[in-house]
Amino acid sequence: MSSLEAKVEDASAKKPTAERLERLRKEKINRFRNQHKINVQGTDLPDPIATFEQLQREYKVHPKIMENIQEAGFQVPTPIQMQAIPVMLHGRELLASAPTGSGKTLAFCIPLLTHLKQPQNKGFRALIISPTRELASQTHREMVKLAEGTGFRIHMIHKAAEAAKKFGSKSSKKFDVLVTTPNRLIYLLKQDPPGIDLSGVEWLVVDESDKLFEDGKTGFRDQLASIFLACTSPVVRRALFSATFAHDVEEWCKLSLDSVVLVSVGARNSAAETVEQELLFVGSETGKLTAMRELVKKGFAPPVLVFVQSIERAKELFHELIYEGINVDVIHADKTQQQRDNVVHSFRAGKIWVLICTALLARGIDFKGVNMVINYDLPTSAVEYIHRIGRTGRAGHTGKAVTFFTEDDKPLLRSIANVIQRAGCPVPDYIKHFPKLQSKQKKKFVKKPLAREAICTILQCFLKKAKRKK
Ligand code: ADP
Ligand code: ADP
Ligand code: MG
Repeated sequence: MSSLEAKVEDASAKKPTAERLERLRKEKINRFRNQHKINVQGTDLPDPIATFEQLQREYKVHPKIMENIQEAGFQVPTPIQMQAIPVMLHGRELLASAPTGSGKTLAFCIPLLTHLKQPQNKGFRALIISPTRELASQTHREMVKLAEGTGFRIHMIHKAAEAAKKFGSKSSKKFDVLVTTPNRLIYLLKQDPPGIDLSGVEWLVVDESDKLFEDGKTGFRDQLASIFLACTSPVVRRALFSATFAHDVEEWCKLSLDSVVLVSVGARNSAAETVEQELLFVGSETGKLTAMRELVKKGFAPPVLVFVQSIERAKELFHELIYEGINVDVIHADKTQQQRDNVVHSFRAGKIWVLICTALLARGIDFKGVNMVINYDLPTSAVEYIHRIGRTGRAGHTGKAVTFFTEDDKPLLRSIANVIQRAGCPVPDYIKHFPKLQSKQKKKFVKKPLAREAICTILQCFLKKAKRKK
């Protein structure tokens, strides 16, 4: 037998074992994914990581970044981090969904910075889009922390007009990463000549992607399209993250992204398992104030977030609660940015116990240790519900969510009750028999929330009416 023949025979003898090993390896990986409730779809899928050390060993993540991860006290990656980080480090485009508070920010920040390797004077090479300024500034802060000691320059647009001057000059080259809301960026792009250059962007991350994909007058979809178009680099990669999954976003990704990988953790569109959820029937609008005062009287563990459906109602509730002897404040889009920043700061510092807010704070905001979320007004959709109550029970902590409902809330109750039930929390039996809404009707409620009676104690309402009569 020639040596060549011997080699061929040798290889064919080994082949079954190599195949077997590969099969065993795949089985092991599948088991690992199942164990962490990681679902993946796509071709040629990168393996998940089990530890942060693997990042340094296998992906050469910057030692300073490794140090910063450790310093932050993060010991093991969360499930979304296990899978999304290697996917992005392989330069693959991604649509990711994982529960509220499960560490999605770090899941995109680590690969972004790793991909950029080191600071360069080439202008923005990575772009992160957030739906609110509060979330943009939180993401900006997280990224600055992660990048400490690496020299990366991470920027957030404060005033679009100032930014136009700044980016117009050479100094804009000194930035590597931009975190922003869509409107400011669009304003800059629309200047003639454009106030910002996105042609060097290699990674574009859309956080809260289902929110940013919403269309219509209040939606960001058109803005997002302009931003995608402005990132003209042939090597631009895109990643979309959210806690909730919208079908049209998935369709768009499959059509428009380059062999996209879909990663989801846990059941799609489900509430964080760390939140104990309760539905509370309060009869009528005035019943809500009574229930609220009852909660205060019983004693509660601050910090607490209270969601209402409109700016007007946020102001009204604030005026009611200000006399209760609790440290209460209110945040909504009618306040100046300075006021908004101050309120967020005081709440983070523990100076405010109860913060009344609108949808503005429903998404992405990571306040440390919020103990309870109260839905004073029923959210206008199950998705909105999932995000609101996701402000508690984050990073493995437990939390509580109480949702008030009245007779008028009946139509939307069923889909929210389903979310609660799927999370294993109790739902009154009669709600389960309420009719299901058609998706068209559901959309109507999102666009035009229920008209509600003003938040007002009976005495005050009476006085106001009397005043009006005069
Ligand atoms: P999400 O975007 O999924 O809602 P965040 O990215 O805001 O969640 O993270 C929620 C919290 O979890 C943050 O306070 C963050 O610091 C913390 N966190 C992130 N990754 C880890 C980890 N691997 N281990 C422990 N805590 C983590
Ligand atoms: P967002 O709240 O999403 O950041 P805004 O709609 O409040 O967006 O506007 C974004 C920024 O764009 C603002 O900070 C403002 O400075 C700037 N801007 C928008 N339109 C104009 C304009 N016509 N002239 C000057 N600045 C503008
Ligand atoms: Mg987030």
